[in-house]
Amino acid sequence: MDKKGAVYLVGSGPGGLNLMTCRAREVMDMAEVILYDQLPGEEILSCLPAHAEKVDVGKYGGHHTREQDEIEQLMISYAKQGRQVVRLKGGDPFLFGRGGEELETLRAHNIPVEIVPGVTSAIAVPASVGIPVTHRKYASQVTILTGNEDPAKEESAIDWDWLAKSRGTIVILMGVKNLGKIAKYLMDHGMDPATPVAVIERGLRPDQRETIGTLETIPGLAKERSVRPPAVIVIGGVVSLYSSEHVVSR
Ligand code: SAH
Repeated sequence: MDKKGAVYLVGSGPGGLNLMTCRAREVMDMAEVILYDQLPGEEILSCLPAHAEKVDVGKYGGHHTREQDEIEQLMISYAKQGRQVVRLKGGDPFLFGRGGEELETLRAHNIPVEIVPGVTSAIAVPASVGIPVTHRKYASQVTILTGNEDPAKEESAIDWDWLAKSRGTIVILMGVKNLGKIAKYLMDHGMDPATPVAVIERGLRPDQRETIGTLETIPGLAKERSVRPPAVIVIGGVVSLYSSEHVVSR
């Protein structure tokens, strides 16, 4: 009988090998093909198993090397050849990064799929500097959103007006480019300019860096310090618990 191919949508965690799950390591060890992009980071990418065929499906220097459709077609064709295919993704495969769409396409083609959850940057990166996304004293709810949309855009997929009035923690991924617009929008819609904000670049990697300010000061600080993606932005009272001491092992 022909060997049956399968696709594993694997979360690599925020960056270090120590925060990859045991299942992710197991699946990587048996993978025949690994489709990856740059988000998992240097430490993980430099340890991809030698025996597997490795395909970079990420973005280089801002231009797409491969479009999403093409990535999905690649997964399908490798799996149909009977191969064990890993699609390696930073953090958790179902938090942004289009894992949900990939699952739908694979199901539509009757390809066996396993999801390997990962430690998401949205929670682990703030944790690395002592910021819990919830805390009884500061926030009993947390909203995780993508910042790659200009909040002033009409018909935004995000309810920015609600967010500006919500009392929970706001965690923004992919928000570096629009940080100034987001901060302004939230203040214009009623959020206190003194609300603490943390921007954590390359969290849980050797060159992690934090920029701490308020809604009012953070755009200027980020500019001054040339903040770059990947970074997690945290807005809310929990940021007052920030400590420069790292409390998650890297
Ligand atoms: N699935 C991923 C998120 C993918 S979206 C997860 O669960 O973490 C990509 C965004 O994630 C980046 O733009 C950045 O905002 C964030 N990100 C991922 N890894 C990060 C890291 N190690 N440090 C800071 N931000 C990170």
